[in-house]
Amino acid sequence: MEDLIKKVAGHIAAAKHLVALTGAGISVESGIPPFRGKGGLWEKFDPMEVGHIQSFMRNPEKVWRLLISEMRDVLVSAKPNAGHLGLARLEELGILKTVITQNVDGLHQMAGSRDVVEFHGNFAWLRCMDCGSREQTVDIDLSQMPPKCGCGGIYRHECVFFGEMIPPKELDRSQIAASTCDLMLVVGCSAVVQPAAFMPVIAKQSGAMVIEINPEPTPLTGTTSTILVKGKAGKAMREITAEVERIIAAKRQQ
Ligand code: NAD
Ligand code: ZN
Repeated sequence: MEDLIKKVAGHIAAAKHLVALTGAGISVESGIPPFRGKGGLWEKFDPMEVGHIQSFMRNPEKVWRLLISEMRDVLVSAKPNAGHLGLARLEELGILKTVITQNVDGLHQMAGSRDVVEFHGNFAWLRCMDCGSREQTVDIDLSQMPPKCGCGGIYRHECVFFGEMIPPKELDRSQIAASTCDLMLVVGCSAVVQPAAFMPVIAKQSGAMVIEINPEPTPLTGTTSTILVKGKAGKAMREITAEVERIIAAKRQQ
């Protein structure tokens, strides 16, 4: 494992344009459950059903209650972990250019990452479905369900529900990042939610190397990605970032 960390750190230190794609797995060590896998929300209900735009349109109250009971408290109190901090540090070092995230938790920005593409939007903001006015999730009055705007319209989160399109600007920026990188790090991403899972394929087709960090193999493993660091994002990123810093310091001394 130590050798693998060194090898990955070597690739990162040598990269000219690193891009990261992150999924729910990077935020697990911050206490936010993923959808799939052990402890995932899938064990309690099917997020594909609850998180589908048609379920929301049919019964906004039910979806609001589930989203809030399952997500709001954890999202409000969660703090970035070594995985987010490591990526922010790689950006500070001038290696990492863009983080494409499937997450809606805002933890990359909180960790200090500046160029973040929120592929699935975020949970921090709400939008009135009638007049379009925006409100922060933390400021909203939850005594009525679903919460409503002054105009009478229902609020929804500014995140992408299953069954909805990825906003064109985010899709565009992600595709550009994926096709211009020379190395893509795919962290905590099950690689089954499309079109996010296609970004590493674009990177590979454009000549980049793809490296994954995940406790489990994914459909990308061994086909699109050439290296899988099998483990938790926080621990792996802490070790990798420390090794990258060491390589850079050694280069400076030469
Ligand atoms: P997923 O829930 O489908 O899969 C999570 C992946 O993370 C799995 O491959 C799992 O093996 C891996 N994983 C688990 N623990 C890990 C750890 N400690 N370190 C590294 N990897 C770990 O996640 P997904 O692929 O991101 O797709 C689900 C969608 O649901 C996302 O696109 C996102 O929009 C949404 N979601 C977001 C959050 C969040 O904002 N934190 C949380 C849950 C779901
Ligand atoms: Zn309104």
